[in-house]
Amino acid sequence: MKELQNLKIWFLTGTQYLYGEKTLQQISKNAVSVVEGLNESEKIPLEIVFKPILKTQEEITKICTEASSDPNCVGVIAWMHTFSPAKMWINGLKLLHVPLLHLHTQYNNEIPWSTIDMDFMNLNQSAHGDREFGHILTRLKTNRKVVVGHWKKEEVQSAIGNWVRAALGFNEMQQLKVCRFGDNMREVAVTEGDKVEAQIQFGFSVNSFDASDIVKEMKNNTAKEVEELVKIYEKEYTLAANLKEGGTQRQSLFDAAAIEIGLRRFLDKGGFKAFTDTFENLGELKQLPGIATQRLMAEGYGFGGEGDWKTAALTRVLKVMSVGLEGGTSFMEDYTYHFGDKKSLVLGSHMLEICPTIAAKKPSCEVHPLGIGGKEDPVRLVFDAPVGPGLNLSLIDLGNRFRFILNEVTALAVEKPLPKLPVARVLWDCKPNLETAAQAWMLAGGAHHTVFSQALPTECIEDLAEMTKVELLIIDEQTELRNFKATMAGNKHHFETN
Ligand code: MN
Repeated sequence: MKELQNLKIWFLTGTQYLYGEKTLQQISKNAVSVVEGLNESEKIPLEIVFKPILKTQEEITKICTEASSDPNCVGVIAWMHTFSPAKMWINGLKLLHVPLLHLHTQYNNEIPWSTIDMDFMNLNQSAHGDREFGHILTRLKTNRKVVVGHWKKEEVQSAIGNWVRAALGFNEMQQLKVCRFGDNMREVAVTEGDKVEAQIQFGFSVNSFDASDIVKEMKNNTAKEVEELVKIYEKEYTLAANLKEGGTQRQSLFDAAAIEIGLRRFLDKGGFKAFTDTFENLGELKQLPGIATQRLMAEGYGFGGEGDWKTAALTRVLKVMSVGLEGGTSFMEDYTYHFGDKKSLVLGSHMLEICPTIAAKKPSCEVHPLGIGGKEDPVRLVFDAPVGPGLNLSLIDLGNRFRFILNEVTALAVEKPLPKLPVARVLWDCKPNLETAAQAWMLAGGAHHTVFSQALPTECIEDLAEMTKVELLIIDEQTELRNFKATMAGNKHHFETN
């Protein structure tokens, strides 16, 4: 994603003028080494930029203001190399509007037992300096992540990397524009919500357009453009016989390509990186966009079906967060269950719109009737997802606040052929099991629409929830219903009184 290329994380080192010039020079040198070490880590997806060490309230306030106003700074890492009296930080922290990671590390890993003296003790004080810093952050109610450990350790770098990914997602939210073609699927509750409140809470804007806007844009398509896109379909997917040249439904492929071109151009002209549509508001479009939506998602656009703007935004945000990682991210829906003798499983899918970034093999391109919507048969990509860990994430509007709900799952191989199922799908096993997971999910009010990701670890979502100040309920291997209910009750108090 080229729009992410200039984004950076700033590294702030706290100290004070108490220790003399020589010590300050050493602090600066050490901090530069820490930054260089972190920048060598493949776990951290953005460059970390060293900033001159901070010794006074004036310097701190200035750097916090600069970090908050620089569009390329998506977050700051702060480390107190020595004691840095935290009253100096109050005014700056009040002005800091980018995510904060508090790195609790130390330049040396081990104590130099035979040589340690008071100079060493003065230089390496994060053990108490960072506690002073943590205290003022708690007192100021500043949301942040605390990472503890030596900066060369892989788990420390990985925790920082996951936070950087969340910061990328948070940054994306601040500018994301979501386009809705048509409104909500009629009478559906969970896909509704307060768009104004969402913009206040998260930053992304949601505005409505119409299928006729796509149709209008399609009038600018050239025959050559459409032919070239059909050639790309032929190259990238295994075409069903009736879609091949001379096939009985060949025209459907050209209609689908025309929709894709018009849709993409409309989104790009408006700067939209996420969109929704609904089969009830298709106007003059010949088909519900299937392959078009699937391919746009694969390029990084967010999508939500049936007017689901929350999931559309979230799909885009998670795609940005997972940049460079293996594994795909897709719009998803809990479709149907397999209550087996030993295990209960979920078959996840949608009418059409599953992202081919989660395709295990070359997708097949097919055309089949869609029982609803009353339009021509839509072209779609059909595939299975690779086996392995994943997560489902839902964002809901509770009326007075938002809530994230996450379930860790394991995608399984589909052992039996599904010759009559004409949609992309994922078969998964919920943690800790479907019975507990679905109970917890429904008690929490989680939607049937989710973002499914095989790229991001849960930690990234925890960090994103912290940044957005929104409740996150996690359903994982440890989930047990009584504790889950108690957590929800405690969270209600916290999120509704703070
Ligand atoms: Mn749906």
